[in-house]
Amino acid sequence: MFPVVMPTYARADLAFERGEGAYLFTADGRRYLDFAAGVAVNALGHCHPRLVKALTAQAAKVWHTSNLYRVAGQESVAAKLVERSFADTVFFCNSGAEALECSIKMARRHHFAAGNPQRYRIICAEGAFHGRTLATVAAGGQKKHLEGFAPAVDGFDHVPYGNLNALRASITEETAAILVEPVQGEGGIVPGDPDYLRRLRATADEFGLLLIFDEVQTGMGRTGTLFAHEQAGIAPDIMGVAKGLGGGFPVGACLATTKAASGMVPGTHGSTFGGNPLAMAVAGEVLDIMAEPGFLEHVQAMAALLRSKVEDTAARFPGVVEEVRGLGLMLGIKPRMPNTEMVARLAEGGLLTVGAGDNIVRLLPPLIINDAQVDEAVGILARAFDEVK
Ligand SMILES: *Cc1c(COP(=O)(O)O)cnc(C)c1O
Repeated sequence: MFPVVMPTYARADLAFERGEGAYLFTADGRRYLDFAAGVAVNALGHCHPRLVKALTAQAAKVWHTSNLYRVAGQESVAAKLVERSFADTVFFCNSGAEALECSIKMARRHHFAAGNPQRYRIICAEGAFHGRTLATVAAGGQKKHLEGFAPAVDGFDHVPYGNLNALRASITEETAAILVEPVQGEGGIVPGDPDYLRRLRATADEFGLLLIFDEVQTGMGRTGTLFAHEQAGIAPDIMGVAKGLGGGFPVGACLATTKAASGMVPGTHGSTFGGNPLAMAVAGEVLDIMAEPGFLEHVQAMAALLRSKVEDTAARFPGVVEEVRGLGLMLGIKPRMPNTEMVARLAEGGLLTVGAGDNIVRLLPPLIINDAQVDEAVGILARAFDEVK
């Protein structure tokens, strides 16, 4: 019989009943240190008391009214995002793919509104990941995500990530925008060089293109700054965020400058659930917590500690680990065995991690981890490396 839950995922045979901070617990009481964090979603860990309070307080007031009416939570969360970013305006949605769909539509619409509807193509990077809708799999350009879903949505050109010359050579009269992740996540934790990101900005300006950053995974403090691109000292025109924004409650957002959003007038885009009061209550609290003094400094300190300890451990097992790379609390370990086997072994040892492209094992801990939890994770890594060496 076909499984009642459609079998589109290769799931581990694990189910969690409860979470607390950086830990998850199974029904039979086994405890796991969660360095998967729901794939970079549970930025503040599980059941953060302030998020539980924000959600339950809103749940007792009103859950959903739709975008037929003003939503106070949208106005306050948008104001917070605008205050802390390059953006002037925000569209709320429910996921990363939707944040990117909005980004793509906005870029096309911007040129349409400027009288250049022929400018609709977007230059993307090889190895990219932008979601699983028809447009975002086309933007990602990965064969394995496109197979069987032809015809692919038109309008996406792909060049090697990090190669500015190839990107410049692919610009035509039809190019509307450049879309990249500041650190490729699903592609295998590939950090973009800050200089590359700065040159993308300069190239976009030179050719009148919009620069779109997909910060769905890198955003919300993950790399040690609220958004990863801040570290390159430049800003995009459009940015998609999701994952960490709701700390586990589904929410996404597309941020833009007034200029980039110039074509987005009433009727051009929408979402029934986007910016729902429950999502806004949680996202507002997430942003408040991340704005508190010392929050991002803590992320930076934990990132430096984890990085150095993982590197030291990896250096002790050169036959097991080929490379350690990443930015902030977005770390990739490249084992010399299949990453799926390493992820399974680490889970057996009590540490949850996530696979990624290029045979990478991703460490994406909650941003609230402490020194002891870094040590605990590194201990589990060391035992697993020792077992397979
Ligand atoms: C996860 C992810 C997405 C897709 O987000 P969904 O919420 O799964 O639609 C898009 N871009 C990047 C960089 C991601 O990591």
